[in-house]
Amino acid sequence: MTEATAPAVRASGVGKVFATRTDDVIALTGVDLEVAAGEFVSLIGPSGCGKSTLLRLIADLDGASSGTLEIFGRPAADARRAQDYGMAFQQAGLLPWRTVGANIALPLEVHGVGKAERAARVAELAALVGLTEFVDRYPDQLSGGMQQRVAIARALASRPRLLLMDEPFGALDEMTREYLQGELTRIAAETGAAVVFVTHSIPEAVFLSDRVVVMSPRPGRITDIVTTGFGPLRDERLRESPDYFARVTAVREALHGAPVERANER
Ligand code: ADP
Ligand code: MG
Repeated sequence: MTEATAPAVRASGVGKVFATRTDDVIALTGVDLEVAAGEFVSLIGPSGCGKSTLLRLIADLDGASSGTLEIFGRPAADARRAQDYGMAFQQAGLLPWRTVGANIALPLEVHGVGKAERAARVAELAALVGLTEFVDRYPDQLSGGMQQRVAIARALASRPRLLLMDEPFGALDEMTREYLQGELTRIAAETGAAVVFVTHSIPEAVFLSDRVVVMSPRPGRITDIVTTGFGPLRDERLRESPDYFARVTAVREALHGAPVERANER
């Protein structure tokens, strides 16, 4: 397969064991997952099921104990060096002494992009995340939601084809969270980037995703995948549609076991 047609992520038989002083923790076992270029995939599951671990393996921040991981058809380490992905976390992690613009520009500076090109790219990114008026402000002058938008802009600075996000809206209030979910679907569609998005929230996963990957702990593994079939255009009306409720129910049942099955067990 050529790189152009390769999936954004291909995990085959991926396992991860953490050796601790007392015993071995099987964080992941037998994970097979393909994320297509431009696809939005959420990882959902209870705390400790290995969501962050899987994201870190994709990002090559840690190595798998077994199996293989490819990013756009090449080893994760190569993809990291080529800046094939950008990352965002629950904490925006902005440098407080730098302006919004200078925070967004940081990855470009690190990779030696010239001043004029940097300025043009920062203007483009600030517009993309709706912060044009705020490029000269400092992080502590922004709300939590605006800080996350800066973090997303920074993650997109090098035009990655893959965005890895670990509960990026987890610390925000519900209103801001829903607003940024809408913004993120728009940004993903405009940039064409694939997204792997870790969350605890069923409604969030369903609203954002083409597919919701359901995981379970001990040992961490994929137990179900729910396809939403919503297409790239999402607005607030989606949240009130029967299709949306049906997918929320499907993910909830995949996470907790279907109520019918539980009734039969009694
Ligand atoms: P999640 O993000 O789904 O909450 P994690 O991927 O953070 O879960 O963790 C999965 C499991 O691996 C947990 O049991 C956690 O305690 C364990 N784990 C994660 N990182 C380490 C580590 N560096 N050393 C030992 N155990 C770890
Ligand atoms: Mg986590």
